[in-house]
Amino acid sequence: MNVSTPLSAIKGVGPKTAEQLHLSGLHTVHDLLYFLPRKHEDYSEVSKISDLTPGKRTINATCESVITKNVRRGMRVTTATLADDSGKVQAVWFNQAYRATQLKDSTQTFFFSGDFDFNYNKYQFTNPSVEKASKIPVQNGRLLPVYRSVKGLKSQVVRKLLAELRPLMAMLPETLPNDIIKKYSLLSLADALTAIHFPTKSEDVANGKRRLAFEELFELLLASQLNKQANAKLRGWSIPFSQATIATFVSELPFDLTPAQKQAAWDILQDLEKEVPMNRLLQGDVGAGKTVVAAAAARQVVAAGFQVAVLAPTEILASQHAKTIANLLEPYGITVALLSGSVTSKQRKPLLSELKEGGVHIIIGTHALLEPAVQFRNLGLVIIDEQHRFGVGQRQKLLSKSDRMPHLLAMTATPIPRSLALTLYGELDISIINQKPAERKPIITKIWSPVSRAQLYAEIDSELENGRQGYVVCRLIDDNPNNESKSVELEYRKLQNSVFGHRRIGLLHGRMKPADKQQVMERFLKHEYDLLVSTTVVEVGVDVPNATTMLIEDADQYGLSQLHQLRGRVGRSSHQSYCYLLTSDTKKPSQRLKEVERSNDGFYLAEVDLKIRGPGEIYGKAQHGALNLQIASLGDTKLIAEVQDAAKRFVSSGADLLQYKQLSRNVEHYQRLTTLN
Ligand code: ADP
Ligand code: MG
Repeated sequence: MNVSTPLSAIKGVGPKTAEQLHLSGLHTVHDLLYFLPRKHEDYSEVSKISDLTPGKRTINATCESVITKNVRRGMRVTTATLADDSGKVQAVWFNQAYRATQLKDSTQTFFFSGDFDFNYNKYQFTNPSVEKASKIPVQNGRLLPVYRSVKGLKSQVVRKLLAELRPLMAMLPETLPNDIIKKYSLLSLADALTAIHFPTKSEDVANGKRRLAFEELFELLLASQLNKQANAKLRGWSIPFSQATIATFVSELPFDLTPAQKQAAWDILQDLEKEVPMNRLLQGDVGAGKTVVAAAAARQVVAAGFQVAVLAPTEILASQHAKTIANLLEPYGITVALLSGSVTSKQRKPLLSELKEGGVHIIIGTHALLEPAVQFRNLGLVIIDEQHRFGVGQRQKLLSKSDRMPHLLAMTATPIPRSLALTLYGELDISIINQKPAERKPIITKIWSPVSRAQLYAEIDSELENGRQGYVVCRLIDDNPNNESKSVELEYRKLQNSVFGHRRIGLLHGRMKPADKQQVMERFLKHEYDLLVSTTVVEVGVDVPNATTMLIEDADQYGLSQLHQLRGRVGRSSHQSYCYLLTSDTKKPSQRLKEVERSNDGFYLAEVDLKIRGPGEIYGKAQHGALNLQIASLGDTKLIAEVQDAAKRFVSSGADLLQYKQLSRNVEHYQRLTTLN
């Protein structure tokens, strides 16, 4: 038997168990060894019934009587009287009728473990777990692993199989380098798995988990260190810093740069001078003013005779960027072009040949920029807005359009918590714009219940009356009777027949043609609409400073980061802005909504979101779901720092990774997954 032996080949695994294992995703011995317990029941502290006090308690008792009743449809209650030599106590289970069968034999003793509390007019156990006393391994200090029960697979069965595999477990070859095991006082792989499946004390579980978490993070962080090393070997273009060029650009701006903007620009301009291509992430909350920083970089790159590509996730954003950047840079004789879906094939051809010959200095577009037909004379800088929306392969395509590796500036308004940035993007340099232009007032955010809708509309209308504009964000395009979300079109019609009847209302959603979307946005920007009813296409980057109110319908149905992003469409001028989170029902608002109401700080909200939902949900399954951290927590900054240190040492020691087969395989996988170039 070895780790790849199918579980069905183990003695005692019949077809039914094999099927259950299979449905639980457990196929081989390896799978089972790594099937970690959900928790451990502690049977080491057993109370006498007469000594019971409220709390999580364990007793060792027999069952004197047990009965199951149907109290109402879909609800069966099993009640039992339990006894030991000190007294008697009641236990109750809801919808666990099998307990009656399990406890039938009144000569058996069992361990009952669970909440002992005052419930339904008496002190009793509610839904305690039950284990035959004879099944609890006394030699293990009665610390019993409980496994996730999928498709009826019982913990007992898993424990029995693992007991059979225990000798094999003890012989598992080590996967981490020995000196790392020593330096960081880790358990060997064999000891770690044994400690988790057969603990004698609770520290065993903790030590075992620490070792496995360390290994998970080590693979990830080593991959990012190796990426960083590989990046350092690449040759790029050195873009000389011209003091005069930048000073002129800055002095001609209609505003002063914030200190954070200056710092970020300075970081970038210094990177550009190096022959090693820049690999920098510019993080800044919505409205922090990232575009002008990117434009300063582009200004410098074009002055040095190179071209710039700006990649945006949506058509609206691409054209907005094109306009902003053209405004900022065309006065210096720089040619800015937009390549979007609305460019006709007739216009496309001359545009592409201009680009290839170098007549176009800055090209801005969506995914269309990735097509092979798009060629450059000398691409020096690639700017990617909202980088997490692009897959790794797409970035690669763009970066390969140059003889040397162009510099890369990725911008994101989704603040990435430090722990995650370190883990996922360890090879990136990061600049953070953590302050907003001084004249901005914090957005006032308020949760509203639908019963006060009329009052809310009146509040919004008074803003419109003052000459401001507003957004109404809804979730769906079509009327779907099965979905209570407001559809934009329905809402649009409804608002026209409401208090807003005399206002000019625009409509925007993702299924409109790019040219139509474009036109609606332009009209909104020119204040030809007072109110824009829209789906979340307004989410990213849209900049209409005069818009000061945002009403989000069914706000409870959005993620925290998304709400914060949406809210960022307002608060973009010196006017006071408001965000109204309208809930879909009158229930108590969720923690999520309360956090958004309370804080305007994107970094804080990102940390909260990370805790609530985990990284996969927030940063996209494609990239991060595959990270698949089973044991390590991204909140464990102490362990992350230790592992980071270990990975750096490993790389600088010049150790041969290939020597460690499993490690190198996993590291390579992560390298491909997390690299930006
Ligand atoms: P984001 O970081 O969300 O991409 P933008 O670059 O779109 O933000 O900037 C938001 C708005 O703030 C724009 O209208 C821009 O002109 C303005 N802005 C940027 N920097 C400053 C500043 N230092 N002072 C005043 N306004 C600024
Ligand atoms: Mg932006």
